[in-house]
Amino acid sequence: MSNEWQAVHDVIRSGQRIVFFGGAGTSTESGIPDFRSANGIFAWKDMEFTPEQMLSRSFFDRYPALFYQFYVTKMLYPNAEPNLAHVALAKLEERGQLLAVITQNIDGLHQRAGSKRVLELHGSVQRNYCMNCNQFYTLEELLALSHVSSLDNTQEKLRTESAADGQGEIPYCRQCNGVIKPDVVLYEESLNMDTLEQAVRAIEQADVLIVGGTSLTVQPAASLVQYYKGDRLIVINKSTTSLDRSAAYTVNDSIAAVLGQLVTV
Ligand SMILES: [Zn+2]
Repeated sequence: MSNEWQAVHDVIRSGQRIVFFGGAGTSTESGIPDFRSANGIFAWKDMEFTPEQMLSRSFFDRYPALFYQFYVTKMLYPNAEPNLAHVALAKLEERGQLLAVITQNIDGLHQRAGSKRVLELHGSVQRNYCMNCNQFYTLEELLALSHVSSLDNTQEKLRTESAADGQGEIPYCRQCNGVIKPDVVLYEESLNMDTLEQAVRAIEQADVLIVGGTSLTVQPAASLVQYYKGDRLIVINKSTTSLDRSAAYTVNDSIAAVLGQLVTV
């Protein structure tokens, strides 16, 4: 093991109020790619859309069938399993060393690994609500109601023709027939203020702050880190980030590899 990794492991082992702030890189080893890395323009009728447009609130309201085609085939990975990063963080919490996991991911894998205090800045695909009566639906129920039979995340093109055919992909509420919306923060929507405040409070109380698997280009990630008052900021990311120079420890490597070794040795 390199000296760099050893130093980071020592700091984490000595932490009493660790906070982990993670992004897409935390889940890549679970087979969930960063959707920002997916390029391509999606054409439908005579219009073209970027992934950011298709994941916006106005798109959801205007083209719910097309939204659900993109969402179900590109954003959902119901068979993904937690990786060593998720497992290591759950163990640190179990040992009483970790205050909170703050995540930009929407996959729910931290909870699957056993983490209890997870602050999901962008919501979760695991929770879905009727926009009319607020009835709750699990991801499995949503998938059953959306009638999308094949979950082929490798497909290159959307099956736009069936979306154009009608309403087949829109999941409707079993109680009132209202449209069901995933509890994820779409573009044009604001973050949940309560979650954001809890994240700020956790970071303020942290003795060790680990920022992992995020390039910190998406707000509020960069600004949240400014609430950290300690001197043990650890940045673990495959590529360099804007925080690298202010961090006490920087490891340009996979978050699952670095944290995984912490619990397996
Ligand atoms: Zn309803």
